[in-house]
This record gives sequence, structure tokens and C-alpha cells, in this order.
Amino acid sequence: MKKEVSIMDAATIKRAITRITHEILERNGGTEDLILVGIRTRGIYLAKRIAARMKEFEGVDIPVGELDITLYRDDQHFAKGQDPVLNDTTIPFSIEGKHVVLVDDVLFTARTIRAGMDAVMDLGRADRITVAILIDRGHRELPIKADYIGKNIPTAITEQISVKLQEYDGDEKVTLIKN
Ligand code: 5GP
Ligand code: MG
Repeated sequence: MKKEVSIMDAATIKRAITRITHEILERNGGTEDLILVGIRTRGIYLAKRIAARMKEFEGVDIPVGELDITLYRDDQHFAKGQDPVLNDTTIPFSIEGKHVVLVDDVLFTARTIRAGMDAVMDLGRADRITVAILIDRGHRELPIKADYIGKNIPTAITEQISVKLQEYDGDEKVTLIKN
């Protein structure tokens, strides 16, 4: 039987996003040359939330781009050893000389982030690419780490993280699903 363990509630998620926003601003030395790029579905909502916080804290509108990256087979969504494909890129502004922060909900093998880095690098020469993630669940297959992490959740390979965000799921929580 599947067991669901609570990891984050709405207040915890909010605090994590606020902290990540401050960390990005601090390490970037403010909002200058900053661009956020959310990865397909929930990463996009997280990127928009970070941008909203930046507007709140610094009064500046930070551009938010979107990348649609998925595995070939949807039923193997969280499969290891598979390279995801880039379906669509919506980054309608120059990334030349910018600091691009890739934003996603869960970091697992890091193949999705790698595909995101490829997509950004194809668009031009960013000064820097960093990674912001809500949940790092481990099991990396590439030498990629997140620069900004909401929460580290060491998982078994058979476990899954469920991320629910109000804008998309009508609910706000992170849980660990054990088999
Ligand atoms: P990776 O490419 O790092 O193996 O997997 C990351 C991508 O797959 C992210 O876009 C993330 O949404 C999704 N993903 C991988 N593992 C999980 C998981 O346990 N839970 C959720 N919700 N998404 C995951
Ligand atoms: Mg995803």
C-alpha cells in the first residue's frame, strides 16, 4: 500500500521561495541582468512566484521565460537513464550577458536541467546559468547541482515526490510517496 508523508505545507513552501529569492538577490548583487526560466508546468509557476517576490522586495520586473522539457514516454516520467527532449522554448528576450536562473520543482537525475542548459546555451551566451529547485531528491546521473534549494529530501529510488501548487493543482503541499 502507498504511504504519503508530509514534507512541506503552504507556509513552508512560501518561506522556502522567499529564502531562495533572497539568496538569488544576494548572490547576484541585486536584480541586474537577472532572468528566470521555469521548466514546464510547476517550474514555471515557481519562477513566477520568485519574480513576484523580487518585484515585492526590489520593485523590479524580472523577465520569466519558459522551457517545455519532457521524456519521450510520459509513463516513464521519472525513469532514470533517459534523456528528456526539449519541446518548446519561450524566452522572448535576449539572454546575452545575463544571469539565467533555471527553476524547477524536483531535481532528480539532472537530465532535465542539462536539457535546459543546452536550450539556454543555444539561444546565446549567458554570463552565468544557475539552478533553483524546490526539492532535491538525489540520485544524480550527471555532475550538476542546484545552487538554490528549497529542501533536500533523500529518497529511495522507488519513492516519489508529489508537488502540488495552488495555481495548477488547486492545492499547496509537498509529500513523499512511499511504495
Ligand atoms: P531529472 O531530469 O532530474 O531526472 O528529473 C527532474 C524532472 O522530472 C523535473 O522536471 C521534475 O518535475 C520531474 N521529476 C523527477 N522526479 C520527480 C519526483 O519524484 N516528483 C515529481 N513531482 N517530479 C519529479
Ligand atoms: Mg517537471
